[in-house]
Parts: sequence; structure tokens; C-alpha cells
Amino acid sequence: MVILVTGGTGYIGSHTCLALLEAGFTVIVADNLCNSRAETLDRVMQITNKEIIFYEIDVTNAASVEQIFTDHRIEGVIHFAAYKAVGESVREPLKYYHNNINSTLVLAEACLKHEVRRFVLSSSATVYGENDVPFVESMKLQPTANPYGESKIISERILRDVANANSWFSVAILRYFNPVGAHVSGLIGEEPRGTPGNLMPYITQVAKGKIGKLSVFGGDYPTVDGTGVRDYIHVMDLAEGHVAAMNLLGEGIHTYNLGTGKGTSVLELISIFEEEVGIKVPFEIMERRPGDIAECYAEVSKAKEELYWNVKRDIRDMCRDAWRFESNL
Ligand code: NAD
Ligand code: UDP
Repeated sequence: MVILVTGGTGYIGSHTCLALLEAGFTVIVADNLCNSRAETLDRVMQITNKEIIFYEIDVTNAASVEQIFTDHRIEGVIHFAAYKAVGESVREPLKYYHNNINSTLVLAEACLKHEVRRFVLSSSATVYGENDVPFVESMKLQPTANPYGESKIISERILRDVANANSWFSVAILRYFNPVGAHVSGLIGEEPRGTPGNLMPYITQVAKGKIGKLSVFGGDYPTVDGTGVRDYIHVMDLAEGHVAAMNLLGEGIHTYNLGTGKGTSVLELISIFEEEVGIKVPFEIMERRPGDIAECYAEVSKAKEELYWNVKRDIRDMCRDAWRFESNL
């Protein structure tokens, strides 16, 4: 099967390309490199010993996207390309709505025109907003406090309407929890530009000595130790979830949580990381970060039952693999 992967040079996209190639798919990547590097694909090809066809294009540009669908008989689309920095989305909402929504519109239009039957959208646990944990796919979504989250809710809605109007068009909405870690080779991983916003890359950079200490955002949440609880998922497990969705997606629109179902607090993650890597991570408890919720973890039975997908890697693997990648940089 020939799959178009938008945002395929990015963090989750590159690991998914690797998993798709290993599962025997032909992979075409479309990425404008606004948050990634083309060399990442060389590494994926080096690891798998298989080819990827790369188009350096902006997927909000309908003519550029049309060219790919004319050049190849695309059979499925996995749409990762998006901006993802929550804080920036509050400051520059139009930038986020433009990129994240127009890209979905352009790709959905190309799929209808070229009769491409399978579409997988990267969504996020952010769409649940302040619901009770664990988050279940059937929950009513709460408005999110930022344009990034809203752009995902709107993209989900667009694809739902398109699938309802075209019974042959199958859509998987994948709501990711907290992807961390890296491929076990240490050759590809998460490379945030500037100071990391997310916890795991921050921890690895403190461990490496690039940053003095970690600020723990909030020590007074109603959680096991007062710090925020999240459902961290190994990026290769997440990648394999996309392969399962491409293989087993039924007709219509289906939404799946991709998480582990287990919550880990910030202090628990620091302590596990220190044990696995053998390096102390100095930290200080600070004020809560605006917009954060106390706990976020998934109910994962739907993906297990319908996609026969299950995580294979635990929180210790996530720490070791994240560190292996950081120490290779
Ligand atoms: P990333 O920034 O590493 O990857 C996104 C890729 O898309 C980048 O390579 C970027 O260059 C590309 N891109 C962005 N806009 C584009 C455009 N208009 N045309 C072509 N390419 C474009 O991010 P990621 O962490 O790999 O995230 C992938 C997807 O998963 C995103 O849709 C994100 O919203 C979603 N997601 C990520 C997380 C997370 O914690 N990383 C959590 C939930 C959901
Ligand atoms: N966090 C933290 N310090 C940091 C970054 C994050 O204490 O430098 C906390 C954050 O408050 C949350 C958890 O770590 O409880 C995960 O945050 P991240 O930004 O990685 O993911 P989010 O769940 O916000 O998408």
C-alpha cells in the first residue's frame, strides 16, 4: 500500500515512516521542513534499508499536494503536518488555524478527488479539556484553552463530516497522549528547537548539562505527590498504532486513544529517569504552568480491541531511549 505521510520528517512522523517501511508499506513524505530536517529521512532509510520518496512542499498548498496525488497512486494518508506549540498558538492564533485546518481541508479534498479511501489524523488528548480521567473516546469534548487544541477539534469535525457524506471514505482520528522516547538505534528522536517546552526533552537536556535545572510546574495538584500526572507513551508504540490503524481501519470514522492507560507524575518520571540513566536531575518546584490540568491519562481498551494494538515498551524504555538519542546528539 502506498501511503502519503505529511509531516513525515518530524518527531512522530519519522518514527511512523520507519514502522510503515518495516511493515512493508511504500512511503511518500510531504514536509516543508518548518520544524524538522530532511536528514532525518536519510537515517530512517539507513535503519530500514528502504527508500522514501520525499516532497519538500507546504501541504496547505493545494497545487503542490495535487502534484503528489497525480504522480503516485496514493492509497492512504497519515496527516501529521501541523504546528504544535500551545503557548505560541495563544499568541498567534491565525498562524495555527491557517496551517492546521487548511492542511486538513486540502488533503481531504485531494482524497475525495483521487478516491483515496483511508485517512489517519494526528489528534491530541488536549481535545478532552477538563474532563474526568481516564479519558474515553466517547466523552463530550470540552473547549480547550488554546487555539492549538481548537484546531485539532475542528480538524476532527471536518473529517467526521466528510466521512459521513462519503461512505467509502474511512477515517481514524488518533488522539495521542504524551509521546516520548526515541527509536532504539538512537539515530532519530525528538529535537526541539531552542529551550524544550515538554518535560522529557527538558529532563534529558538537564541530564546532559545543557540546562542547569528543571522547573517542576506545580507541587500542589490533587495527585499522588502534588505534581502533574500524564500518560507517557513510547513514540515507537505510537508509530505502530498508525500501522495498525492503516491495516485495520473499517468503513466510517473511528476515534482511538493512543496511550498506555497509566499515569506517571513529574517526580516519578524524574526518579525513574535517574535510576535508568544513573545521572541526577536537579529540579525545583515552581508555580503551576497556566492552562495545565492535574491529570491526563487514557482509557485504551478501544484501540486494543479494534486495532489489536498494545504498547510493548514501558516508562523505563522511554527514559533509556530518550537519553540514548540525546547523548548521541
Ligand atoms: P513535529 O513538529 O516534529 O512534526 C510536524 C512536522 O510537520 C514537521 O516536520 C513540520 O516541518 C511539518 N509541517 C508543519 N506544517 C507543515 C505544512 N504546512 N506543510 C508541510 N509540512 C508541515 O511534531 P510532532 O511532535 O511529530 O507532531 C506530529 C503531529 O502530532 C502534529 O499534528 C501534532 O499536533 C500531533 N501531536 C503531537 C504531540 C506531541 O506531544 N508531540 C501530542 C499530540 C499530538
Ligand atoms: N512539566 C514540568 N516542567 C517542564 C515541562 C513540563 O513540570 O519543564 C510538567 C507539566 O506541568 C505537565 C507534565 O510535565 O504536568 C507534562 O508536560 P508536557 O509539556 O511534557 O506535556 P503536556 O501534557 O503539557 O502536553
